[in-house]
Amino acid sequence: MTNSVTPPTFAQRVLQWYDEHGRKHLPWQQDITPYKVWVSEIMLQQTQVATVIPYFERFMQSFPNVEALANAPQDEVLHHWTGLGYYARARNLHKAAKQIVSVHNKEFPTSIEDVVALPGIGRSTAGAILSIACHQKHAILDGNVKRVLARYYAIDGWPGKKTVENALWTVAEKNTPAQRCHHYTQVMMDLGAMICTRTKPKCDECPLQQDCIAYAQGEQSKYPGKKPKKTLPEKQTLLIVPVFNKQVYLEQRPQSGLWGGLYGFVEASDIKAAKSELAKRGIAAGTFTKHAEFRHTFSHFHLDITPVLAVVNSAQRLQVAETNAQWFVFDEPIEVGLAAPTKKIIQRLEHML
Ligand code: SF4
Repeated sequence: MTNSVTPPTFAQRVLQWYDEHGRKHLPWQQDITPYKVWVSEIMLQQTQVATVIPYFERFMQSFPNVEALANAPQDEVLHHWTGLGYYARARNLHKAAKQIVSVHNKEFPTSIEDVVALPGIGRSTAGAILSIACHQKHAILDGNVKRVLARYYAIDGWPGKKTVENALWTVAEKNTPAQRCHHYTQVMMDLGAMICTRTKPKCDECPLQQDCIAYAQGEQSKYPGKKPKKTLPEKQTLLIVPVFNKQVYLEQRPQSGLWGGLYGFVEASDIKAAKSELAKRGIAAGTFTKHAEFRHTFSHFHLDITPVLAVVNSAQRLQVAETNAQWFVFDEPIEVGLAAPTKKIIQRLEHML
């Protein structure tokens, strides 16, 4: 009679890897609360762990709980996000905090339906928060997990396509264990970030190597399928940089649209339009000088930006009454949310003058 030993399941293998190699010392993994996990998960969307850590720590210092975040002015929240990009994440975080305070009595909700109903939280992020912070059983499917599963099962196609995404959710659900789901959630993200990386996956260190189909086929780079390519449109704009006596003029942008809620420069299509835009604001500049163009790429277009320095004379300086337009001393820290190109121009201002 032969002794049959059941091979360890997918979950058992990755959990064993977690015990030996998983990340356990990240700031949001200490004294875990749904709030901390939520903020970290939102910051980690599109952003690497090493970049997120100092942002997360500053954020927690200023907004230690949901209530503190809900009560903060939006400018302050966006300021803490300056440099992380994808500012809708910060606006939604702020909106959701207000909702938690008003609808859920300041307590982060613990049912998946309530969590996905909050602004900016999808099914995967909701699953991650409730699994890591509340030890509930939920599958997750972020970019890292999609890559591991697409390769392990050789699931063809771009995960942005509904049918491919559904196939990935099916296998994600199937493998999610009832026991230690919180560790499983963490390890699946770790595996994608540390082992099953986009390029040069470290298959020899992977607990899934023995039956990973992409590995067996030597086709790791084929999965997940790439997004069908389309060339991004190119747009141009002038950003008008009015400067007076070491101060620079910025306006808060409308909440919806590009750089929503952040402070930025007035836009114009040419110098004539620039003059008239400034005139509308009561600003008359003596000279307008174009500086070197640079490109900022968004997910859906390239924006070629030409900064135009407008030197303002003292007598014509705007007396700003509204709160959404201000003169800022540009060699001191500016404590409002700024988009990356705005920050870049301000950093170069000394050289432009
Ligand atoms: S064996 Fe390689 S391709 Fe397969 S899941 Fe592991 S790291 Fe990814």
